[in-house]
Amino acid sequence: MTAELIDGKAFAANLRERVGDHAAAFAEKAGRKAGLAVVLVGADAASEVYVRSKGKATVAANMESFEHRLPADTAEEDLIALVERLNADPAVDGILVQLPLPGDLDEQAVIAAIDPGKDVDGFHVESAGRLMVGREGFVPCTPLGCIMLLKDRHGDLSGMNAVVIGRSNIVGKPMAQLLLDANATVTIAHSRTKDLPEVVQRADIVVAAVGRAEMVKADWLKPGATVIDVGINRLAPAEEGAKGRLVGDVDFEAAKEVAGAITPVPGGVGPMTIAVLLRNTLVAAHMHEGLDPPV
Ligand code: NDP
Repeated sequence: MTAELIDGKAFAANLRERVGDHAAAFAEKAGRKAGLAVVLVGADAASEVYVRSKGKATVAANMESFEHRLPADTAEEDLIALVERLNADPAVDGILVQLPLPGDLDEQAVIAAIDPGKDVDGFHVESAGRLMVGREGFVPCTPLGCIMLLKDRHGDLSGMNAVVIGRSNIVGKPMAQLLLDANATVTIAHSRTKDLPEVVQRADIVVAAVGRAEMVKADWLKPGATVIDVGINRLAPAEEGAKGRLVGDVDFEAAKEVAGAITPVPGGVGPMTIAVLLRNTLVAAHMHEGLDPPV
């Protein structure tokens, strides 16, 4: 059997287009564009790439992009002062501080300074609490993208056995909560889990968010399972000077012979993250203008 490919790239492109159309309608109604501010501290190469592509995607979706670049030695109080200025700026609907922060900057303190109404990354403790108790709030973009793909494939997830591998605050934990809210029976696995292959064997849905190249093997999977691979890992290059291949946390080539459906890496979960960020910003803009969110 060969699994159906879950085309996150196409789903994300469609979502971005819909968000762009709604953002254009918002600009007409509100007399201003929705705005996303991205703060980058230091010059981490991967973060630079993410920030640039977020900026481009924001503009392409008919929204305003504000980029703030600060030197790596920025003092925490200066970074927090910038966040507070953005909180007070009516042109800014969403604030994203690109992580990881360099040096001794305290990520939790900086995220805590973001107005929860502008927390489009969903990392503020208020957003996490709202998700936990089932109140409206911003949900981290990557897990929200994953649940969109799962609902698109399965419709109703009621009673399905879901195993989330990984328990980070930005992926694993919110992913598990979203699956629980969708009435799945959820197991969260992590580095101390005993007999992970046996745990995964029971899953109708597997979400792998570990950060270990091709760790999840085909023979761990229940035949027909749906596999969502969040991992992004770069393998060592085959020859010097070349770029290593990007792979997920699942041994894709073998797993696709067992799974019922699977996301590829790249082209699966990755493109969903930015699309959902734009969606969250659009929702924030509507809330700030007292309008009903369209998506
Ligand atoms: P973290 O490093 O914060 O968390 C990894 C989790 O995996 C931890 O909970 C850890 O367990 C668990 N883990 C580590 N080793 C094992 C093991 N051998 N068996 C079982 N569990 C294990 O990572 P993130 O959640 O931030 O990211 C996970 C992956 O997703 C990364 O590859 C990252 O690059 C990718 N990612 C992709 C995004 C996208 O847009 N597609 C967005 C965000 C992340 P413990 O808690 O016990 O240490």
